Amino acid sequence: MDLRLTEEEVAFRAEVRAFLRDNLPASIREKGIAGRKLTKDDYVRWTRILADKGWAVPFWPKQWGGTGWSPVKQSIFLDETQRGNAPEAIAFGVSMVGPVIYTFGSQAQKERFLPRIVDLRDWWCQGFSEPGAGSDLASLRTSARRDGDSWVISGQKTWTTMAQYADWIFVLARTNPQAKKQEGISFFLVDMKTPGITVRPIQTIDGGHEVNEVFLDEVRAPLDALVGEENKGWDYAKFLLANERNGIARVGISKARLDRLRELAALPIYGSGPKIDDPFFRAKIAAVEVELKALEMTQMRVISNRRNDGKPDPASSVLKIKGSEIQQATTELLMEVVGPYALPYETTEDGSNEPPVGFDWSGPLAPTYFNNRKVTIYGGSNEIQRGIIAKAILGL
Ligand SMILES: Cc1cc2nc3c(=O)[nH]c(=O)nc-3n(C[C@H](O)[C@H](O)[C@H](O)COP(=O)(O)OP(=O)(O)OC[C@H]3O[C@@H](n4cnc5c(N)ncnc54)[C@H](O)[C@@H]3O)c2cc1C
Repeated sequence: MDLRLTEEEVAFRAEVRAFLRDNLPASIREKGIAGRKLTKDDYVRWTRILADKGWAVPFWPKQWGGTGWSPVKQSIFLDETQRGNAPEAIAFGVSMVGPVIYTFGSQAQKERFLPRIVDLRDWWCQGFSEPGAGSDLASLRTSARRDGDSWVISGQKTWTTMAQYADWIFVLARTNPQAKKQEGISFFLVDMKTPGITVRPIQTIDGGHEVNEVFLDEVRAPLDALVGEENKGWDYAKFLLANERNGIARVGISKARLDRLRELAALPIYGSGPKIDDPFFRAKIAAVEVELKALEMTQMRVISNRRNDGKPDPASSVLKIKGSEIQQATTELLMEVVGPYALPYETTEDGSNEPPVGFDWSGPLAPTYFNNRKVTIYGGSNEIQRGIIAKAILGL
């Protein structure tokens, strides 16, 4: 196995870096560095810049806007865009429902939906989890029944990320209550403007509004809202969840946070010198850097394996666990830089006219720390990933 980049791959890295330097709007980059929340407009603006360049959906088939890049190039692109503080692609369209549609959808669904994901004309959200159906997703209770020329869908979804922005939701619903639980589920594409859909915000510990409850009350969707075959939705959901785990290590994001950490730790703090002068703190940074380097190498190994045999690798569960732990460790160290000045509550949303307490850069550190508690839960909780490792890698 050769983990070194080829000359062409090194040149590609430089090309992506130059593109970001010249095209990522400064206001968006600065929000990314500071840890402030991006608006819907920020995401749309950046996605359209990428779409104009042909880079909005790199791993899709070329026919639908993909680039034809190798897995290594895709990984370089992800790493550079994350480290460069560019907004992440809206995964619900690009990595989740898009691949389901181009793999299992009808020609009409492909033509209707895929181009609108590429330039974010349609914002999608994920209607999988329910109260009582998270890790054990197949227990979901939302139901769908045929009635004339419609599906009628009723139930409650929860933790629906950014549903408040969404034009469409993809929904798993039970179409055969008699079948074994995985066998009676279907996959639907539903317009968020349909009567009967209510979105209620869930306020999170970081003070933000990122997740929602979505209620579906006798929602009527046309028959062609069904993806693929009736009662085969679990197969499509498994395919989608495997894609969700790709890139979940977020190595580039942790690199960007470490850049920020070194920068802030070099500043003098009230009443004391820079935090970086403390050898114990430097040792903590070094420990995270070592872990991150090891994660990056493991990610390269997983990618190069994929290059050889083309199969998904259960080692991506290792990437999820280590990647999320490192993300949390970096947000914790950022809080340590300012000590008690990380505590005053400040919103990371735009538009606050309150003067900052402490430094003008310290406000988002605590909300970012609290927000990152989520990374060990979503995308399959770390306990679930450990279960996968025990079975699929260790054979226990
Ligand atoms: C910020 C955030 C955003 C999210 N966005 C979305 C979204 O957009 N759409 C969507 O559909 N869902 C979303 N989710 C939901 C997410 O997929 C679930 O939270 C996750 O699958 C865990 O399910 P749960 O919350 O029901 O916890 P549970 O499944 O009830 O788990 C509770 C605890 O038990 C542990 N546990 C459960 N089963 C096992 C087991 N077999 N072995 C060992 N331990 C176990 C878990 O690890 C966890 O610690 C989001 C979640 C978060 C936190």
